This record gives sequence, structure tokens and C-alpha cells, in this order.
Amino acid sequence: MENQYGMCATCNQPLTDYQIQFERRVERMSYLPMGDAEYQAIVSVLYCEGLTCYCSKDCACLGIQKRLLDRGIKNTGGSIGPVTSCAKCGSIIDMTQPHVHYVKMEVTVKKKPSQTSLTVHDEEGLADVCINCDPDGALFAPTEQSEPIEHTIIPPVRA
Ligand SMILES: [Zn+2]
Ligand SMILES: [Zn+2]
Repeated sequence: MENQYGMCATCNQPLTDYQIQFERRVERMSYLPMGDAEYQAIVSVLYCEGLTCYCSKDCACLGIQKRLLDRGIKNTGGSIGPVTSCAKCGSIIDMTQPHVHYVKMEVTVKKKPSQTSLTVHDEEGLADVCINCDPDGALFAPTEQSEPIEHTIIPPVRA
């Protein structure tokens, strides 16, 4: 019987509606001053690509670690900037410019005949990678002026 949610990329068992998803995004940040040395970080997602799905945290840990290693990327954790260092070459990333962000999401998938929606329970940034280390990411640099496809508001943080 075919499974509607696909298979776990680590253990090959059928997935349920609860899954851990591994995603690659091309993003850039903007920072809105909020007064009192606080600012609000806004993420513009220029491109989003689902890489692999896992049945459990254990399978996700194993699988994602391997995939990052295959790409030569260290799991440095995500940053909201305004600068961070590339998880591959170590160079400084200006996060207001397009860069590649790897993320792990714990989700429940709701499938309806017309559409699929996600409830995100937890999201964890894994690594930020500069455009020079990600040839595909460079494709998005010239489209920097175009409208971002998604905005996520992060609560204000101390500068
Ligand atoms: Zn699994
Ligand atoms: Zn780099």
C-alpha cells in the first residue's frame, strides 16, 4: 500500500502526519529599529526547498548530520544576525544580503484534498552558509529587489 506521507529518509519506515522536516532556504534579513537599542528582525524567504523528512528526532539527528557533512557544512546553529560566519568557509555573512539557511522543523502535516498545510511545533536553525559556498543560492542574488514570498516576524531582541 502506498503511504501518503512518504518514507523516513533514515530508517525507510512509512511516515505519519508527525514528521521532522529538513529545509534549505535562501533568505535575507531586515532590521527595524524599535527604540531603546532594540530592533525587530524580519526574515524574507526568497526561496524554500524541502530536502528530507524523518519519522523521529533520532532519525532526523542522524540523517541531517550526515547531509550537512556531505555538503561540507558544520552545524553551527542559526543566527538572526546582523552578521554571522559561514558554516562552510568561515567568512563573514552580511545577513541583509541573500544567504542560505538550513533549518529543522518539527511539524504535523494536515492533508486535505485541495491543499496540504503544516502546523509547526518547533523550528531550529542549523547553519547559515554564504552565497559563495552555495552556487544555487547565487541565483537569487540578482532577484534581491523582487517581493519576498514570506515574512516571519521574530520578537525584538537586544542589539
Ligand atoms: Zn525514521
Ligand atoms: Zn562560505
